[in-house]
Amino acid sequence: MNLVFLGPPGAGKGTQAKRLAREKGLVHISTGDILRDAVKRGTPLGLKAKEFMEKGQLVPDDLIIALIEEVMPPEGGVIFDGFPRTVPQAQALDEMLERKSLRLSKVILFEVDEDTVVERLSGRRTCPSCGAVYHIKFNPPKEDEICDRCKSPLVQREDDKEEVVRNRLRVYREQTAPLIDYYKRRDILVSLDASKDIESVYSDLLRVLNEEGD
Ligand code: ADP
Ligand code: AMP
Repeated sequence: MNLVFLGPPGAGKGTQAKRLAREKGLVHISTGDILRDAVKRGTPLGLKAKEFMEKGQLVPDDLIIALIEEVMPPEGGVIFDGFPRTVPQAQALDEMLERKSLRLSKVILFEVDEDTVVERLSGRRTCPSCGAVYHIKFNPPKEDEICDRCKSPLVQREDDKEEVVRNRLRVYREQTAPLIDYYKRRDILVSLDASKDIESVYSDLLRVLNEEGD
């Protein structure tokens, strides 16, 4: 099974992908997580990506495509989270999968309105050590601002601040939303009502994955 999770920032893709990957033994490929780690470690990719990420712009396609080629396991079994984000990225993914005799099973569209997304992003907190994701209201840690798993103090992502969020939503509408039609035409797009609570979205996700066979 190879899945793409598509939807605006803050829709809940990462939250669901982490759990699904753990429970189904899939590899979770989050380009955002990989890029943030590269920035933190100051690698050549991180140095190039940093300025784009800070402004809420997309990192250039050639860098992202090279990154995906590098991390893709040869046997597949992946959830792509936050990739592809442009039509050229989607085309590059098609070509790469074809070369490896793999295919996309489904593209899951996380549907949620912009007000909800802004509320989710403004309350998102992440653990800088283990990458766990919380929300101050919808998914709070047991102890205020402390990671349940590794006890590190939680942080707010710089790009979750309001001015950057607005830009990220515009970038989504202009550059990523065209992928909805791209995949609809291929008949592999399934929509989820991502405005429900975390548990309900997860059970809907399992249902749509089981429903259609693969
Ligand atoms: P994405 O990966 O799509 O950017 P995240 O999974 O990081 O989104 O979720 C964004 C924020 O919203 C996080 O703080 C997360 O805890 C919270 N969240 C995720 N799913 C839901 C949901 N169904 N209801 C309420 N809050 C959610
Ligand atoms: P995310 O964690 O998915 O919200 O991504 C955070 C930031 O990383 C985005 O705002 C972009 O700057 C960059 N990024 C992540 N994935 C991609 C991608 N597929 N293409 C271009 N930029 C990306």
